[in-house]
Amino acid sequence: MRILITGVTGMAGSHLVDYLLQREGLEVYGTFRWRSRMDNLDSLKEEGRLNIIAGDLEATLPNRSDSSKLNLIEADITDPFSMKRAVAMVKPDRIFHLAAQSYVPASWSAPAETLHTNIIGTVNLLEAVRAAGIDPAIHVAGSSEEYGYVMPDELPVRETNPLRPLSPYGVSKVAQEMLAYQYFRSYGLKTVVTRGFNHEGPRRGEVFVTSNLAKQIAEIEKGLRDAVLYTGDLSSKRDWSDVRDFVKAYWLVVERGTPGEVYNIGSGVVREVKEMLDMLLGMTDVSIEVRLDPARLRPSDAKVLVCDATKFKKSTGWQPQIPFEKTLKDLLDYWRERV
Ligand code: NDP
Repeated sequence: MRILITGVTGMAGSHLVDYLLQREGLEVYGTFRWRSRMDNLDSLKEEGRLNIIAGDLEATLPNRSDSSKLNLIEADITDPFSMKRAVAMVKPDRIFHLAAQSYVPASWSAPAETLHTNIIGTVNLLEAVRAAGIDPAIHVAGSSEEYGYVMPDELPVRETNPLRPLSPYGVSKVAQEMLAYQYFRSYGLKTVVTRGFNHEGPRRGEVFVTSNLAKQIAEIEKGLRDAVLYTGDLSSKRDWSDVRDFVKAYWLVVERGTPGEVYNIGSGVVREVKEMLDMLLGMTDVSIEVRLDPARLRPSDAKVLVCDATKFKKSTGWQPQIPFEKTLKDLLDYWRERV
């Protein structure tokens, strides 16, 4: 079975590869860009398990029986030609569409780029599948940010809740999801959408709040900065999971999910950002002052997001297994090794 992952250099994509390469009989392919940060794939590279495919694709196809390697194909989702080329070459049986402009604040500073990447990028992928004449199961990674403004009596959020996105990123993910639905209805493409709540762990981009705070603590421990930790709004409440639990959920989505459906994925446990920060601070011996940085405040923010994942759990049997304490500890240790 052939798997294609868009966004394989990102946090979730790289963990998904680690998970899939442990399974038998899968040929795993992923897209990257010339400018992609490749460090999330460092361990595969060190083990000689990265195979970069370049040039005439048909002429350089990897050994089909080698399921221990990740095969990388250069493709930008905003470029229809490269997407058609990648999909036509791999002819995947399963696609995980993870590539995106995934950072909410960047969607305010560059809204058009976010909309273009996340919406047009999805069109390009879906059209590439149609052009290739294949019938893969396609997972599309939507987001809890699609819910945006949620009334207190709507918590925990179910899939039937109205979508009231509060950022261009949230809007882009709603549109992405609508495209997945429309291509399912119009052309019978087997798309399944997840609305993922926050997931974290090693390799989380340093701009994201958990990772940013963990990195600051690691830098303070090493004496690289004063013992002052800068934060944005600490009062938002989020539903955090471990990315390593999430990638197992993504596999179950394509194995057991129903095409045309949308599924929430999350822990169902709500925590304030402040509580998450206190947990991190409890993992260091250094005394640290916490200071608000007004530059880190957002124009509008979803105040509380809590997941009701009943539909997904019932459909797939998924249960998160990694405690949040371990997620944060592994993230902090990740930064301790890097700063
Ligand atoms: P990351 O930001 O870590 O990874 C995003 C990936 O998308 C990177 O590999 C990036 O590659 C790639 N990408 C961006 N733009 C393009 C492009 N134009 N062409 C090709 N590839 C591109 O995100 P995560 O791994 O955290 O998230 C994966 C998906 O899940 C995203 O769609 C995100 O929106 C969604 N999601 C994530 C949540 C979370 O809490 N992590 C919550 C809900 C949804 P490059 O290195 O080249 O930039």
